[in-house]
Amino acid sequence: LSLLLIAVVIATVLTACGGGDKASGSKEEAGFIGVSMPSKSLERWVHDGDNMVKELEKTGYKVDLQYAEDVVETQVSQIENMITKGVDVLVVAAIDGEALTNVLQMAADSEIPVIAYDRLIKGSEHVSYYATFDNFKVGVTQGNYLVEALDLENQAGPFNIELFGGSPDDNNAYFFYDGAMSVLQPYIDEGKLVVKSGQVGMDKVSTMTWSAANAQSRMDNLLSTYYTDDKVDAVLSPNDGLAIGIISALKNIGYTDLPYITGQDAELQSLKAIISGDQSMTVFKDTRKLAEKVVEMVQAIVAGEEAEVNDTKTYDNGKKVVPSFLLEPVYVDAENYKEVIIDSGYYTEDQLQ
Ligand code: BGC
Repeated sequence: LSLLLIAVVIATVLTACGGGDKASGSKEEAGFIGVSMPSKSLERWVHDGDNMVKELEKTGYKVDLQYAEDVVETQVSQIENMITKGVDVLVVAAIDGEALTNVLQMAADSEIPVIAYDRLIKGSEHVSYYATFDNFKVGVTQGNYLVEALDLENQAGPFNIELFGGSPDDNNAYFFYDGAMSVLQPYIDEGKLVVKSGQVGMDKVSTMTWSAANAQSRMDNLLSTYYTDDKVDAVLSPNDGLAIGIISALKNIGYTDLPYITGQDAELQSLKAIISGDQSMTVFKDTRKLAEKVVEMVQAIVAGEEAEVNDTKTYDNGKKVVPSFLLEPVYVDAENYKEVIIDSGYYTEDQLQ
């Protein structure tokens, strides 16, 4: 009996050890990933975070996901914590692309590779890869939309347009603006489009921290200064958040027939505004695809392999040209939102009611 007991005890201990080894072994193999997101102020970042956790956990990784509520110092200390906790790879969507040089040096000292997520991290050679959407093309899509909506090929105009840019500390903001202006500038030069405020260029039209409230108050000022007896025909808004602020300013001053207004991100509130006719279009960037791409990059890094990229010349961060993967942005308006947004399962019809 005692022999049997000893055998059972040994067998139990062996199984426990085996099981334990396997569990911790596979965890170690898959790794621990730190994901640092800018804020929850837009739904898109919430989707990004959720998708990243889902994709990483599916592949067997442990994840530490943090949101920094658009405060740079918070993001830096969250990343420092992740380094201290011993993550294997860092995935960072920077609030201020220029503010992470020191913390990335810390990561490099601990041999933790960094992937820039959606927004380029500047001023550091310690960025292994960058995954994003074709940001210039986002702007081109918005510009093309306004040209077609106003039928600038056939109409002499002139039409009044006002321009808005994203946050000046976000590298993407310049790509969006430059992409849109690559299309709009020739019509401004020709006189078919008129910027009555004269406010042209990112130094004049940017919106700190992508704040919708700031966009709304700038639009209030533009309307009361330049449009007391004239109307705005079009507004270039770089994203949905700002579009909502701009729409509020227009409505508050009595606009019922709103100008053409662009957007980006396919946020719920903007999709509803597109369906009701207040906002004209948005640019959908499928955060599920971005998460999948970034997880592939993580896997390649952990396996010591090269990740797949499709752009090796656009994104110079001042220290190196960061190998990048650019995904395709997709045009969305009242005509195609069902097909693009609902049929793909990004939102349900109910959510858009
Ligand atoms: C992102 C946009 C987003 C904006 C504000 C940009 O970097 O690419 O999708 O609307 O930040 O959060």
